[in-house]
Amino acid sequence: MNQFSKKIIDWQKNQGRNNLPWQKKSAYEVWISEIMLQQTQVETVIPYYKAFIKTFPEIKTLAESSEEQVMSLWSGLGYYSRARNIHKTAKIILNKYKGKFPQDFKNLVELPGIGPSTAGAILSLAFELPGVILDGNVKRVIARFKGITNPIDNNETQKEVKSFAEGFLPKDSFREYSQGIMDLGSLLCRPKNPICNSCPVNKNCQALRLGIQEKIPLKKTSKPKKEKKIDWLLISSKNKILLKRNDSKGIWKNLWLFPDKDILSKDNISLLEKKESLPEIIHNLSHRKLNISTVKYQIKNKDRLKIDRSSSVWVSKADSVKMGMPKPIKEIIENYL
Ligand code: SF4
Repeated sequence: MNQFSKKIIDWQKNQGRNNLPWQKKSAYEVWISEIMLQQTQVETVIPYYKAFIKTFPEIKTLAESSEEQVMSLWSGLGYYSRARNIHKTAKIILNKYKGKFPQDFKNLVELPGIGPSTAGAILSLAFELPGVILDGNVKRVIARFKGITNPIDNNETQKEVKSFAEGFLPKDSFREYSQGIMDLGSLLCRPKNPICNSCPVNKNCQALRLGIQEKIPLKKTSKPKKEKKIDWLLISSKNKILLKRNDSKGIWKNLWLFPDKDILSKDNISLLEKKESLPEIIHNLSHRKLNISTVKYQIKNKDRLKIDRSSSVWVSKADSVKMGMPKPIKEIIENYL
């Protein structure tokens, strides 16, 4: 076995994370955790993961649920296409694979939302088979260890890192190795202030030797995010608020939002009593910055408001938590109702 993987495996057993709720669990549980962990920190994921598995303990219950149920458990976690793909993949596994996860890379990467790195995670962490994980943590460890100073998001660099990752794979202990290199990236080889003196591979680390740890991985200068202004109306009537399902395409497709200014028709405007403007919320997405303004209104007789009843509902605060909604809507309901 190569020294790099051997040192990481030994370190993982003694100092890695060994109490995460999805460890040494079924492929189904590993898969759900890996999808949730994309772009999201472990501490944030744990409560979402536990609630998800409690509601959908196996792939059959997930496949037979509605998208609305899945979205409600994903509310606030962001990147909602992940939840839609999870639902699609659960159905495919139930129908095409009789509820059992395929154990080969080729079939795994054909499933919606499962890319090469997630397939590698499922193979190694669930089935103890060789599988290469290349998430952000792992790429950072390899790029630093090898002293790769080219921008990490270049195609050529990606190929180089992948080739090193494949070369580092051990001959066995695939689960410990995959977990170990992820733990190393998260616990020691952190983006800022890496703890190199505790690192099991520090003797041969090129970035440490040259003192350039924090300069790696280099990213191409990214363009400034496009900004978008959103205006919402938080309309309440006694203990109910008005929500509208977002039928348009995009990141919040099929999630429940507050109505926008379209609701302020001549007929409706005289029924609404303006209460206050809420503080603006800045919500950053990977590619866009949303500047969200919300104005609170009240209406005495909600039945007089002209709304599209096929896509709008009046709900209590307690019932709203069961609905799929993005984080800014959740926060506004929690803080201002
Ligand atoms: S020595 Fe430091 S920079 Fe190198 S792999 Fe270890 S933690 Fe990362």
